[in-house]
Amino acid sequence: MKQVRLPSGELVPALGQGTWYMGEDRSARQAEVAALQIGLDLGLTLIDTAEMYAEGGAEEVVGEALAGRREQAFVVSKVYPHNASRLGAIAACERSLKRLKTDCIDLYLLHWRGQHPLAETVEAFEALQRVGKIRHWGVSNLDLDDMRELWDVPGGSACAANQLLYNLGRRGIEWALLPWLRERGMVTMAYSPIEQARLLRQPGLKDFARRHGVTPAQAALAWLLGQEGMIAIPKSASVAHVRENAAAGGFTLEAVQRAELDRLFLPPAGPSALDML
Ligand code: NDP
Repeated sequence: MKQVRLPSGELVPALGQGTWYMGEDRSARQAEVAALQIGLDLGLTLIDTAEMYAEGGAEEVVGEALAGRREQAFVVSKVYPHNASRLGAIAACERSLKRLKTDCIDLYLLHWRGQHPLAETVEAFEALQRVGKIRHWGVSNLDLDDMRELWDVPGGSACAANQLLYNLGRRGIEWALLPWLRERGMVTMAYSPIEQARLLRQPGLKDFARRHGVTPAQAALAWLLGQEGMIAIPKSASVAHVRENAAAGGFTLEAVQRAELDRLFLPPAGPSALDML
């Protein structure tokens, strides 16, 4: 499995697993846990979750999947913006730790920008780091102006990652935000890497995948994995899909194939507002 280096120097897998919509339906629980566990077996050991997902339910699913094997995983969770105050983020993190049944989150993100000053959120993250409740911190859905502001906040340049909507059909961040993050050694986590499966129905991608002997999901993921400092976190509660996605890690796109995808899915021609889901 390809790895990506965090600003601290630590290596994490470039292909992980998302968990949005997990933990909502009790009857789906067993399948969700099984899918995450197969993913872990296949090397998709970075697991992304959030207190928002099923209001804590997804974190509980992750906790169950990690029973007896916590040390194999790199766990990412996120704090709601309305909880991201100096004290609120600490309390929210403690609730997440309980649901995850762990004593430390590997990477803790601000889910999107809210009303609390970034400086306060950073202070809370630093306090959580000091006591060992989180190891790294980062943000999500922050645009270039937000990132510049964060960079100037005391301690703000320690941000490890920005988790953003990024896939073949959503390339706006390539214009300015992605280069800015790369120049500073920050990792980008591409969320909704297959656009919640909608991308897989795109005729051009289907044709590309068929001609190159992969599935559309594998082509879309391989395109992300071929980029420096990029982590992709597809979500799947299906063992078959997890296996299919994990196999994307073994498929490297040649320059000519990337150029073909550039013709099918145009890179940005100018600045645009940050896309979000
Ligand atoms: P994805 O692009 O990962 O797509 C998930 C959907 O695709 C599910 O319906 C899944 O169904 C299906 N799927 C997965 N693999 C395959 C496959 N190989 N073939 C066919 N269908 C497939 O969307 P998400 O929005 O879930 O994004 C991924 C993760 O990113 C989230 O789960 C979450 O952790 C994170 N995220 C973060 C956000 C943020 O604001 N920071 C916003 C959105 C997502 P099935 O389960 O049946 O396989």
